[in-house]
Amino acid sequence: MFDIKIYKPKTLDDALEIKANLLNDIAVLAGGTDLTIRLKEKTIIPKGILDISGLEDLKFVLEDNAILNIGPLCTHNELSDRHTDWGALIDSYAPELGEGCRVLGSPQIRNIATIGGNIVNSSPVGDTIPPLFVLGARLKVQSLKGERYVDIADFATAPGKNVLKPTELLTGIVFEKHRKKDRGFFNKIGQRRALFIAKSSVAFKGSWNGDIFSGVKIALGAVAPTVIFAPETAAFLNDNKLTRDTLDQACNIIRTEGRPINDLRSTVQYRRVVLGALLKKGLLPFLGKK
Ligand SMILES: Cc1cc2nc3c(=O)[nH]c(=O)nc-3n(C[C@H](O)[C@H](O)[C@H](O)COP(=O)(O)OP(=O)(O)OC[C@H]3O[C@@H](n4cnc5c(N)ncnc54)[C@H](O)[C@@H]3O)c2cc1C
Repeated sequence: MFDIKIYKPKTLDDALEIKANLLNDIAVLAGGTDLTIRLKEKTIIPKGILDISGLEDLKFVLEDNAILNIGPLCTHNELSDRHTDWGALIDSYAPELGEGCRVLGSPQIRNIATIGGNIVNSSPVGDTIPPLFVLGARLKVQSLKGERYVDIADFATAPGKNVLKPTELLTGIVFEKHRKKDRGFFNKIGQRRALFIAKSSVAFKGSWNGDIFSGVKIALGAVAPTVIFAPETAAFLNDNKLTRDTLDQACNIIRTEGRPINDLRSTVQYRRVVLGALLKKGLLPFLGKK
């Protein structure tokens, strides 16, 4: 079907060299679940494919004191299966990210699709991105010339667009582990219970003292051209005792954040209403819980 040259480097340096030489003529393939659709639809027509799926040095979960460092080639299953060492680490120290990986696509998709692909695809509906926002993740990107770090909140600039240069690959995802009092969740809603793209999603992280959250961060998916923070709702919940009344008020505030659109998946009004419901679903269990 395609007359495309496939490059399958054995090392990261080789991959970066190919990228440096071929720049925009080459498309990177990790799990391929987004890329193959774009190739099939001919929204991109590259001269070559850089298949990085075999680069074992981009597949890791490393714990370094307070920091977790995730390799971009980890699949969503590897990061969300609590019965494995990596999945258990994520579940303990970044449960909102584990949940994002767990509800993405279907078992088949989660088996092959990578966290790096989800990030670089830069969709406002990407399920790992709101959790990475509230975790304050920084992305390590590398080229032959060296490395730099980009805050996840500065990475995507529009649907499908980001600040990655043609010479660069995403090579790490770094964030602080949850501390003892930190709590987090990710909730999304879509058309059905499996294999669904979010109509709206909410990620939350905060430190819980039994009555009050502090250090609250909230991120929203599918309600703007990129994932965004919900600063007003976070500021309201911060250091404000969580009661039925304050929770209701927070749900009203979150409905005013974001710039949702009408599209084939949902309407502006529905998206706003469910933002409140998704926040409430995540915070209700804390009412009356010390
Ligand atoms: C049936 C179906 C259901 C889906 N459901 C969901 C869903 O519920 N939620 C959701 O968020 N997504 C969903 N997706 C989208 C997709 O599965 C995810 O975005 C997935 O994480 C992409 O990972 P991948 O490894 O397959 O990426 P690929 O397709 O290999 O790559 C995606 C993009 O990232 C680039 N890229 C990948 N890795 C790197 C790297 N290390 N450095 C630089 N560039 C890189 C590629 O060039 C490409 O542009 C679904 C897709 C399908 C086909």
